[in-house]
Parts: sequence; C-alpha cells; structure tokens
Amino acid sequence: MKHSNISIFIPHIGCPHQCSFCNQRTISGKQHAPSGDEVQQICTSALAEAKSPENSEIAFFGGSFTAIPHEYMMGLLEAVQPFIGVGKFRGIRISTRPDCINNDVLSLLKTYGVTSIELGAQSMSDKVLEANERGHSAADVEKASRLIREYGFELGLQMMVGLYKSSGDDEWETMEKIVEIHPDTVRIYPVVILKGTKLAEIYESGEYELFCGSYEKCGFDDVIEAVAVMMETFEKNGIKVIKCGLHASEFVERDMIGGFYHPAFREICEGHIYRRRMENIITEDYIGKTLVFAVNPSCISKAMGHKKANAEYFGKSGITIKIIGDENIPKYKVELRR
Ligand code: SF4
Repeated sequence: MKHSNISIFIPHIGCPHQCSFCNQRTISGKQHAPSGDEVQQICTSALAEAKSPENSEIAFFGGSFTAIPHEYMMGLLEAVQPFIGVGKFRGIRISTRPDCINNDVLSLLKTYGVTSIELGAQSMSDKVLEANERGHSAADVEKASRLIREYGFELGLQMMVGLYKSSGDDEWETMEKIVEIHPDTVRIYPVVILKGTKLAEIYESGEYELFCGSYEKCGFDDVIEAVAVMMETFEKNGIKVIKCGLHASEFVERDMIGGFYHPAFREICEGHIYRRRMENIITEDYIGKTLVFAVNPSCISKAMGHKKANAEYFGKSGITIKIIGDENIPKYKVELRR
C-alpha cells in the first residue's frame, strides 16, 4: 500500500538561519503558524477520510521542526498524540536542520511517536553550504544522519541542485556522499530563485553561475539530464526518491524569478530516463520502423514521456514507438519486444 503524508506546514519561526534560497512563507504558501487545535482539526478530518491510516504519517513540513520554540514544538507533538497508534496514523514525520539534532532531541521525538526524520542537507560541499549561508557543515549532516539511524528513525535527506557556487563536481560529490550515508529516502530540489531571498539579490547582480557554466548556458534540459542520472543512481542503490522538484504551487509560480521549476518536473525526469534507455537500444537499422518496448505497467506513461514527448522525439527520426506493460520488468528497465 502506498505511503502518504498528512502535511502540516510550519513556517520558519525560530529558525536560526536565513538560507540564501529560502523564502519559506512562499514555499509553504502560508504565513500562519497552526495552533494545536487547528492541527487536531486537520488530523480529525484526515483520519475520517483515510483509507489506510496505518500507511500514513502526520508530517510537519516547511520549517525546521526541532528549531521552533520548544513550547510550540511540544504543543504540536501533544496535539497529534490522539491520532497515532493502532487503527490510526502510523507515526509522525518531521523535517529539520542537521545542526538541530542531538541525543536529547532524538529521545524526546522517540517518546512522542516520531517515526521519520528528514534533514535538509542541500549540499555536501562546505564551500557551497557556506556560500548559501546554511550555518552547518557536511560533517553535521553525516553526524546527524548517524544519530538518527542509531535511534531507529527512518532517515530522509533533501538535496538541492544548482545552488550558488556549486560546480558540477560539487553536485556529483553530494550525490555520492548521500549514497554513502544511504538514507531511506531522498528529495531532490533543483534550485528555484524566489523573490525576497538572498539568492534573488545575487542572481539579479549577475554574479550567480549555475553548476554547468553561466546561467545562459545551463538550460532546463541540462538540469533534467543531471537530475535524471541522480534519480537512477539513488534508486539503483535502494534509496527511494520521494520528491523531485518543488511542489506545484501558485505561490512559487508567482514569486519565482529564475531557476528550474516545472509543475511536472519529476515526470519529465522520468521520461528522460526512459528516453535514454530506449536510445541505448535503438540503432540506425530501426529507422522507419515501429518498435514495441515493454516496461513495468506502472511506467507506461513515463516511458511515453511528458505529453508524449518521447513518442514525438523518436518520431522525428522516423521511428514509431509503442509501449506495453510487463509486470516482470522493474522500474526504469526497458525491453525491446519487436
Ligand atoms: S534552515 Fe530551512 S527553514 Fe530555516 S532558513 Fe534555511 S531553508 Fe529556511
């Protein structure tokens, strides 16, 4: 059964930093910090509608949960207690900063039924972390990840692609170090430059060079290509990619001034993975022919590409593709049938 989250957004009150890219109020689309009563109302309706609550977590997203004022954090944890346990939600999911994790915090979260902790790692290069005013180091990510594991929580890491001063080498190093840490899940966020952030100022000053050269030279397709490789690498190493690209939102669309946003970012990346897999099979001998590729049944539309982009792409070379489903084929694998 598919996992789902009951998402509750907490704005970044109490967060000790203002990272270069963060305008958390825009990302969460809210400015209001929910009270315990409001959280209980959300959970009551979600539980009444949930088909399999045992596969769902109450998720506090948006800010740095363990950095919000202690009393407020305790109030939220208390408020959701009646909604977790047998016949109710599986547990609590939180996201926080690597330097806001220690033994005391983890013991407390354990007592309150927190099951999963996601860390905003963003980059594993200290140079990039510093340039983007994260206020923690790559070693902090490694240490916090180790502790989270020791306490038996599910671990998630979030990374960003294309941060200020991040080179191509920094991006691949971040991917490799995350593979080494081996979290259960990963979220990949290509950078989106939002109004009102430090990144917007740097971008507007013309000083901002994205990872593969100048901003003009690094197009959307290059980022898709890079993120597609990252997705494949994580999945191949048994790390689930639970998010790719910022959540589709009218607030982000309104406030973005640059970077890589698309409401179907993940679908486009997955279409790209399938395109490359098919390209590896296709030779010149196939021009003018119709080729039937088999993929996992859940991936038929991914293999066709976003808005059938792959069918169109191969069509330009005189190749018609047909995609069929086969339960025996794993995700991202492709077989030519005829
Ligand atoms: S730590 Fe998170 S919430 Fe705080 S400023 Fe940075 S990105 Fe925003």
